Amino acid sequence: MRIIEQVQEMQRWGEIQRHRGERIVLVPTMGFLHDAHLSLVRDGKKRGDRVVVSIFVNPAQFSPNEDFAAYPRDFERDRELLEEERADVLFYPPAREIYPEGCQTQVNVDKLSGLLCGAHRAGHFQGVATVVTKLLNIVRPHAAIFGEKDYQQLQVIRRLVRDLNFDIEIVGHPIVREADGLAMSSRNTYLSSEERQAALCLSRSLSRAACMVKRGETRGGVITEAVRATIEKEPLARVEYVTLCDSATLEHVEEIHDGALLALAVWIGKTRLIDNTILQR
Ligand code: AMP
Repeated sequence: MRIIEQVQEMQRWGEIQRHRGERIVLVPTMGFLHDAHLSLVRDGKKRGDRVVVSIFVNPAQFSPNEDFAAYPRDFERDRELLEEERADVLFYPPAREIYPEGCQTQVNVDKLSGLLCGAHRAGHFQGVATVVTKLLNIVRPHAAIFGEKDYQQLQVIRRLVRDLNFDIEIVGHPIVREADGLAMSSRNTYLSSEERQAALCLSRSLSRAACMVKRGETRGGVITEAVRATIEKEPLARVEYVTLCDSATLEHVEEIHDGALLALAVWIGKTRLIDNTILQR
């Protein structure tokens, strides 16, 4: 596996592969890899000839009161895991490569960025959209894979790729969960054992909603109230939002007609966790 830190070298590598007719798949990450990340990498191996995994903890998507400095990092372990998965390139740029001095261009996906998590994390999706645009221009992949755990991020990226005419296939990868239902996340390492147990209320509440819908409930208010109630039973949990929305526009819906996205963000102690599911009648 080749490790590339410089933008120019990454661009040159991509150019050579393209000339050879190789299909390049990009898997962007912030590192501290877990099995969900590796599942995306395996998906990438199936979908293309060359897999590039980027590791970049993007300062632009953290606001000053968030966990940028504390975000977990373990480059050596990540490198070994990616070697085992037979990734072709690990792109690991320092921040000055991505944001050289004088940088002043931002990508803003207007409407989508202000909803759900965007309403609570000012500037977050502008940071995401900007760095993903840059990564797509640097690696020039034929396809890029993003997890549905960060469902809003996936929709923001689908939108920007369409709006800016990137000729790149965006692939959504299903949520990968621990055996007990907790969605995998690098942030799960922040949880104490008591909090780890409490965090199960997220997936439990989503399952409860899915059961209600199976039994015929379609009213958004009734479903989201039941979800809230399930989470609020857990003393260590504090709901940031629970919402039922259109799975493409992310706009609030009152009623499930076909399918709808149920998305939530919950604080477990000082750790903010997200989860979601598509509810189908
Ligand atoms: P991150 O390192 O948290 O930025 O995640 C990198 C990529 O992995 C993103 O596209 C995430 O959506 C995806 N991802 C992280 N956790 C999961 C999960 N539990 N299931 C599916 N995809 C995930």
